[in-house]
Amino acid sequence: MILDIVTYPDPRLQQKCEPVAEISDEIRRLAADMLETMYAAPGVGLAAPQVGRNMRLLVMDPAAQDAEKRPRVLINPELTLSGEDLLSEQEGCLSVPLNYRADVLRKSRVLLRARDLDGKLIEEELTGFPAIVIQHEADHLDGILFIDRISRLRRTMYDSKVKKWLRRKKVA
Ligand code: ZN
Repeated sequence: MILDIVTYPDPRLQQKCEPVAEISDEIRRLAADMLETMYAAPGVGLAAPQVGRNMRLLVMDPAAQDAEKRPRVLINPELTLSGEDLLSEQEGCLSVPLNYRADVLRKSRVLLRARDLDGKLIEEELTGFPAIVIQHEADHLDGILFIDRISRLRRTMYDSKVKKWLRRKKVA
C-alpha cells in the first residue's frame, strides 16, 4: 500500500523518534508499505516519520536507479561518522516541498549498526552515495531535515517560498 508522505513544515518531521521495541507483523507490514511508497515516489530512502510514524525505522535502496533492486530495512540504526567531509550535491527529500535541492556537507564514512527485519544484527561500513543516503535518513529519526543543514540565508529564502506556496494552496 502506498502511504501518504508527510511534508515540511509538519511538526511530525521535527520529533526525535522512539526505538522499535519488537519486530511485530505491524512493523513488517509498515516496512513493506514504506518500500513500496519509496519506489513509487521515486526515492532512494524513506524514514518512518515521513509517513507519520514516530519510530526508528527506515528503508533505503541507494541503487534504485539500477535495474536490480536492493531494498534494505534498518531498525534502530546507530551511525558512527568518520572520514572527511563529503559534499552531497543537490540533496533533496520527499518531505521537502517544491522539489527544493541544496548542497549539504556529509561525512565520507559511516559505521552502521542496526537490526534487519529478522532481528539480525547488521554491522557494516558505508562510503560514497550509500553513506550520504543513510546519514540523510538517520537524521529524519532525530527530527532533522537536510534544510536544517544549509546556510541561514538559504533557509530563510526557502522558508519564504514555502510560506507563499502554502498560502496559494489554501486559496486554491
Ligand atoms: Zn528525507
